Amino acid sequence: MCGFVGIIGLKNASRHVATALQAIQHRGQDSAGIGTKKGNHFRLYKDLGLVHTIFAEDDLKRLEGSCALGHVRYPTMGSASKEDAQPFYSRWPGIIMAHNGNIMNFEEMKKYLLDQSNYLSSRCDIEPVLYLLSSEIMKGNGKPKASYTVEDVLRGMAETYKVAKGAYSIVGIMNIEGEDTLFVARDAYGIRPAMWGRKGDAYMVASESVCMDVMDFDTVGSVAPGEVIFFRPGKEPLRESIDYKGKRPCIFEYIYFARPDSRINDDDVYKVRLKLGELLAEEWKERRGYELDVVMPIPDTARPSTITFSEKVGVPVREGFIKNRYSGRTFIMPHQGARKSALRLKLNPIDAEVRGRRILLIDDSIVRGNTLKQIVSTLEYKKPKEIHLAIYSPPVIHPCFYGIDMSTRNELIAYQMMKELGLDGESFDGENLEKLEERMAKELGVDSLTFLSVGRLNRVFGKERCAACFDGDYPVPVPEDVKQCIIRDRILQRGEKPEDDAGDGE
Ligand code: SF4
Repeated sequence: MCGFVGIIGLKNASRHVATALQAIQHRGQDSAGIGTKKGNHFRLYKDLGLVHTIFAEDDLKRLEGSCALGHVRYPTMGSASKEDAQPFYSRWPGIIMAHNGNIMNFEEMKKYLLDQSNYLSSRCDIEPVLYLLSSEIMKGNGKPKASYTVEDVLRGMAETYKVAKGAYSIVGIMNIEGEDTLFVARDAYGIRPAMWGRKGDAYMVASESVCMDVMDFDTVGSVAPGEVIFFRPGKEPLRESIDYKGKRPCIFEYIYFARPDSRINDDDVYKVRLKLGELLAEEWKERRGYELDVVMPIPDTARPSTITFSEKVGVPVREGFIKNRYSGRTFIMPHQGARKSALRLKLNPIDAEVRGRRILLIDDSIVRGNTLKQIVSTLEYKKPKEIHLAIYSPPVIHPCFYGIDMSTRNELIAYQMMKELGLDGESFDGENLEKLEERMAKELGVDSLTFLSVGRLNRVFGKERCAACFDGDYPVPVPEDVKQCIIRDRILQRGEKPEDDAGDGE
């Protein structure tokens, strides 16, 4: 997962971008970069690390201009190296670009470009998209021009969309019709988020609306699926739809990834999490209903849902853990080893709330299960009477090929347990869900485990959404060879041998 910000119409735009990027640092902690355009000069600076450690005063001074974009990255394609950090720059026709998401057919695009002697300098999946878009824009009427038109870019974008398969929101800056222009584009199903806002004559685009909040911009709304929007200071945005296929936003953004104070698509993430907590309470009362002393969120994501859960079941909420605010977010660390050691440091249980009590822990989701196993074992050390666990999403049993780092099926604990039990199916309800919960509870070391059912999930999100990791319904088809390429890339990046995990697609 990654995050981006683009600003046009503010003096020293790179400084504003650097500040706004820190509001979405949770979307990627491996590297960050900022690109700017002033007159005919493009500038780019990127490095490994967190935003505040990368950009010193001198760097931001050199990143001149009132048009800038920035990116925070954690890899779901390519490595966590500096070469793969975004944004990327194409000298012809002069574009700086970044994205959030996954271009699934990276290898195919790379080969296509190589056949035209167009070499890539990284394994980052936005690079071939940028070069393809550049060459499509320049095809125009044959001759290279000093400045291209909106029509040139729209035609180039439409051609690029036909080739680049996956889920992605793109941000770019370039000279269009003699003017500095910021543009944003979203995939045909709107799987990855993209929001835009304004302040006076200036515009901002970002992965989450919290970027607008912290910079005092008004959030206007989201970029529609398949839409491209062009922004120039003081002028109305130019909006064009080039490839609308339906609304299928990623629900994992609401469940876990986005900040609760953000709006994505047309929803407040916070409100969605409150609703999920209510429905989880229904699920609990219907299928468990055990006596409890306290409910506790696993910080921080589960907090809103725990509040509504507690209200519905009439059991008090307590803070069970103190979070070390100086440690990183474990899920988005690229290696399992780094994730494990970071977690022990991150959460410490409060003895007074845990000892001798019947506790229900609430969490957003279970992906690999390592985090939860360790949380439960640190909690047991404090001698609670019972530990129950409730999750406000269904079991994750399918990989994600759209930009969340869980693209190999064998890494998913629910899938491992499902295989062990000999269970089959795209999602679970009823007796099979109970069997899976029982087995996973044992594995995680808790007295009971309760997932939100897919049926209840649908009451929140309807059917116009991507919930493929829960129900296997992928909006963008993922051909088997593409799946295997992505799986191989992720396994190699984790430093494992491909044969250890081969054939773990759907
Ligand atoms: S598969 Fe899951 S994580 Fe991936 S885009 Fe769909 S809902 Fe989001």
